[in-house]
Amino acid sequence: MQQTILDTPIEYLKGVGPQRAAVLKKELQIFTYKDLINFYPYKYLDRTKYYKINELNSGINAEVQLVGKIIRLKTVEQKRGSRLVAVFTDGTAEMELIWFQGHKWIKENLQLNIPYVIFGKINHFNGLFSMPHPEMETVEEHKKSLQSALQPVYPSNEKLNQKNISNRSITKMMQQVFIETHHLFKEVFPENLINELRLLPKNESFFNIHFPKSAELLNRAQFRLKFEELFFIQLQLLSKNLVRKHKIKGFAFNVVGDYFNSFYHDYLPFPLTNAQKRVLKEIRIDMAHEAQMNRLLQGDVGAGKTIVGFMSMLLALDNGFQACLMAPTEILANQHFAGIKELADKINVKVSLLTGSVKTKERNQIHEELENGTIHILIGTHALLEDKVQFKNLGLSIIDEQHRFGVEQRSKMWKKNSLPPHVLVMTATPIPRTLAMSLYGDLDVSVIDELPPGRKPIKTLHFFENKRLQVWHFIKEEIAKGRQVYIVYPLIQESEKLDYKNLMEGYEALSRDFPFPKYRISIVHGQMHSKDKDAEMDRFVKGETHIMIATTVIEVGVNVPNASVMIIESAERFGLSQLHQLRGRVGRGAEQSFCVLMTGNKLSADTKVRMDAMCRTNDGFEISEIDLKLRGPGDIMGTQQSGVLNLQIADLVKDQDILKLARTKAIELLKEDINLEKPEHQALKFVFEILAKKNNIWNYIS
Ligand code: ADP
Ligand code: MG
Repeated sequence: MQQTILDTPIEYLKGVGPQRAAVLKKELQIFTYKDLINFYPYKYLDRTKYYKINELNSGINAEVQLVGKIIRLKTVEQKRGSRLVAVFTDGTAEMELIWFQGHKWIKENLQLNIPYVIFGKINHFNGLFSMPHPEMETVEEHKKSLQSALQPVYPSNEKLNQKNISNRSITKMMQQVFIETHHLFKEVFPENLINELRLLPKNESFFNIHFPKSAELLNRAQFRLKFEELFFIQLQLLSKNLVRKHKIKGFAFNVVGDYFNSFYHDYLPFPLTNAQKRVLKEIRIDMAHEAQMNRLLQGDVGAGKTIVGFMSMLLALDNGFQACLMAPTEILANQHFAGIKELADKINVKVSLLTGSVKTKERNQIHEELENGTIHILIGTHALLEDKVQFKNLGLSIIDEQHRFGVEQRSKMWKKNSLPPHVLVMTATPIPRTLAMSLYGDLDVSVIDELPPGRKPIKTLHFFENKRLQVWHFIKEEIAKGRQVYIVYPLIQESEKLDYKNLMEGYEALSRDFPFPKYRISIVHGQMHSKDKDAEMDRFVKGETHIMIATTVIEVGVNVPNASVMIIESAERFGLSQLHQLRGRVGRGAEQSFCVLMTGNKLSADTKVRMDAMCRTNDGFEISEIDLKLRGPGDIMGTQQSGVLNLQIADLVKDQDILKLARTKAIELLKEDINLEKPEHQALKFVFEILAKKNNIWNYIS
């Protein structure tokens, strides 16, 4: 790599030296000049306004700036140490500047009776204003320095403060680095793009992000740097997708044969929705290429992803391959197995189930039948990933509710073949489109955006604890109508014991209010053996019990159409997307369904937003957008692992428009010059390759 002055180690910057460099490296990961320049302010203070002392009032909460002179210095002894006080005047009145530390240095350096610009927060005590630890410089210095009206404020922490690296020190270093590197920032974008988007050139952008000459230039600098950051991420994701399509060979499923056709024409249990037909076609076309499919199938809860998955598997079978479906929990695997077996039996497709509770003897048989090809479709949990599980020829892997599986586990699945199987990831957690673009920019996405006909929208209501009797009464009415009810309690790892206690207390109270034999209750929780869990679940599925009390184990996927009421206890303890997932367990039959959110009386502002959102909308995408805004991208399921989100300046929530623009432009660029060979793209290519080497983008296929 070509070395430039920008790669100079930070200790060589004038005024830094080895000791401060060590702190910069440790606390801020600033190793070189370039890192320093890329260390951006997180806010700016308006320094166009100068206050007079007699204008100050105790209501001013922000930092203020004044011009005046120090007329006296005194040291005041206190219980703990002493403080240095300077009496400061601007002719309108007097105030005090106060230091609790660093007296010696300040005494030696402060000059009396010459004009200073001071800046800081003010305190008000006994009719006298004071400013502790002001930032200050002489008016003369102030005029000389690269001052701008908008003063940058850099991220800081305790350690930096202790080591005396203040905002002011960072600003000084920044000034120095601009002096030493003077206009060495090479433009990376081609001229036509810069002109088209009116982008501020790189040089000016860097300068204005640190020393904004005006609010307008700051805006343009921010826009340009955000655009650049997002553009390179998109460029990498998109090119990775293209490369995979060119290089990662996959099985071409050319045939639509008997399995598929016979099922489609004779055994389809209901007409497919248009959305289901559309995504099925997308999947079929994708798998017909000689490249591995890597597709995300998104659809809200109840949208009907399973049948799409099943029919995709039939395509694999028609081409002489096996298929598998992996679910995050045993309950869900069992349910998929039951549902799919019913369909598969009709067309003589052999389906088996492999979970942790399958006995050794049966397990060995499954292993054998998988290897000799007797089994067409294998359904199961993580157990599918064990080394002993070897397919004769796996053509399609479907992963349901993807967020429960780690990235590593996913890639394990194609170690077993000569060529990787096609992969379809089904998720009911709608991810905001912009986030999907960044996280799955290298995946293809199909969306089922339509629910099967005849569903009535779920009514969601929020009740405070003191209205419990009313809720119980409502449950009894619904049960009298022949419906079934879920009651869900939170489960958080750290306080499992407490949750268990809540659940059991809830169970006991409920058993009193809903006495046997008139009411029958199932209970499922994490501390039960899976056999017992399944038995309880089974009783509920068959309609033998009226109420299912559970922790969030039922969150994902379980399907009981006759269950029409979902009560969520301590709803304030659930995140929005989890609440939405839980709600999705009802509303699967023809009856009106209800979701009741029970909370304590005191709600935080955040909780209120969540409850209101749930009561207002059933749209998973809308919910996920609100969730993203509340929690920020870092907390959305599964996204923590993604380096994509270590953004330096852009914000996936606030900068969605810039993200879309960056993606569009990256697509246009790759269409025009996929290998970045044109001379005007060389600067861009250089950066692209450095980033690619750093490999800080989530590597999906690893
Ligand atoms: P999810 O997308 O949440 O996995 P499922 O695949 O479990 O949804 O489907 C939910 C319910 O809707 C199931 O009972 C399924 O049989 C039914 N279903 C799916 N597609 C249709 C359709 N086109 N018409 C009617 N019912 C359907
Ligand atoms: Mg499902």
